[in-house]
Amino acid sequence: MSPWVQEFWRVFGITTGLWLIGLLIGQAMLFLFLASLTYIGWHLYHLRQLEQWFSHKKFHPPEAPGIWGEVFYHFYRLQQRNRKRKRQLGEMLKRFQNSTAAMPDATVVLGPDYEIEWFNKAAAQLLGLQSPRDRGQPITNLIRYPSFHQYLEQGNYEDNTLKFVSPIDAGIMLRVSVIPYADNQRLLLARDITHLHRLEQIRSDFIANVSHELRTPLTVITGLVETMRDSEDCTQSHQRPLLLLAQQTARMRNIVEDLLLLSRLESEPPTNHSEPVAVAEMLRSIYEEAVALSGDRQHQITLAVEEELIIYGQEGELRSAFSNLVFNAVRYTPTGGAITIRWYRDDQGAHFSVADTGEGIAPEHLPRLTERFYRVDVARSRNQGGTGLGLAIVKHVLNRHRGQLHIESEPSKGSLFRCDFPPSLRADLTTF
Ligand code: ADP
Repeated sequence: MSPWVQEFWRVFGITTGLWLIGLLIGQAMLFLFLASLTYIGWHLYHLRQLEQWFSHKKFHPPEAPGIWGEVFYHFYRLQQRNRKRKRQLGEMLKRFQNSTAAMPDATVVLGPDYEIEWFNKAAAQLLGLQSPRDRGQPITNLIRYPSFHQYLEQGNYEDNTLKFVSPIDAGIMLRVSVIPYADNQRLLLARDITHLHRLEQIRSDFIANVSHELRTPLTVITGLVETMRDSEDCTQSHQRPLLLLAQQTARMRNIVEDLLLLSRLESEPPTNHSEPVAVAEMLRSIYEEAVALSGDRQHQITLAVEEELIIYGQEGELRSAFSNLVFNAVRYTPTGGAITIRWYRDDQGAHFSVADTGEGIAPEHLPRLTERFYRVDVARSRNQGGTGLGLAIVKHVLNRHRGQLHIESEPSKGSLFRCDFPPSLRADLTTF
């Protein structure tokens, strides 16, 4: 029989039974009232049992007849299901914690205000975090590098990592990345890249040393070739091989100089002693050099600059980057083509751009253009006196100025190379 039918018969039995007794002794209403009180009392008793069962956290439910037995049974099933789910979740959490604890990378869960919510063992070893002392503290209070603060503030974590020395061991180099997830949560990962960093340093020291060692012999060869060419003993038949020798030596010198510049840009930290750079003036002299490089190829070179637009930076580095872009435009634009050099500002910051109507670049080459020695056409680049390092230099200089290189190009239509500098780099004329 269903518990509700049982319940109905219980109410019916108690009320009619007591009502009939009441009728017999002439107190029908009183007995009906007594019946209601008995029924309410029975419910109150079981409600109390339910409350006590919950508050004393007993495992087994109390025994009860009818509808209350059914209620207790359902609560008991629910409780068992919750216990099972809790156990499973606990096991899962334990497994997750064990696996992240075994991970060699430091893992830190950060809340909306960068406060530390959880971290693994590696985070204690690599970042010096301590539990429970550091839980709930903003990570920026514990890792105090300005570059780290900037990295967190700018919020652009995609494809963006940061390298810094471990706050507790100067011999450990870390690469840090942040992955946002859920609502305002962030996962901070730090990997020990000491070994990789050392190899990188060895490679860049090697290139710098080789380039440096080659400099002197090349200068000597250049001098000797010039002397031999100018000498009266130099016969006509020797002139051509000597000219070729002079050209190839000049090419090698350019490569060596570019390699030295690149290793300097790579190894030296961005200097904080930025100076206001009068870009317009610098561009005028680059323009003169571009006109000379163009020679009789009659390019229409236009210069449009905002005279008063000045940025903080390293003059020498900016000159290298801008002249590389302008000279590339001259090299890769056929006779009579147009080249437009612009220096302007807008809400996004200051911009330097070079547009040409030259041969353009196929889209598949664009992502690799800033790699060292990457050329679309090796023979053509060599003929034009290119080293294959120009755009790598541009990229490094821009990185050091918090700028970005933007390239648009279409084969046989032309190219646009634009350097975007953040508004914070702009200087006011009055700061001179
Ligand atoms: P390079 O010394 O060979 O010019 P860069 O690093 O400056 O080396 O440029 C890499 C390659 O990008 C060049 O070899 C060339 O193929 C291509 N490139 C650069 N600038 C232009 C341009 N303005 N128009 C067409 N191709 C270009």
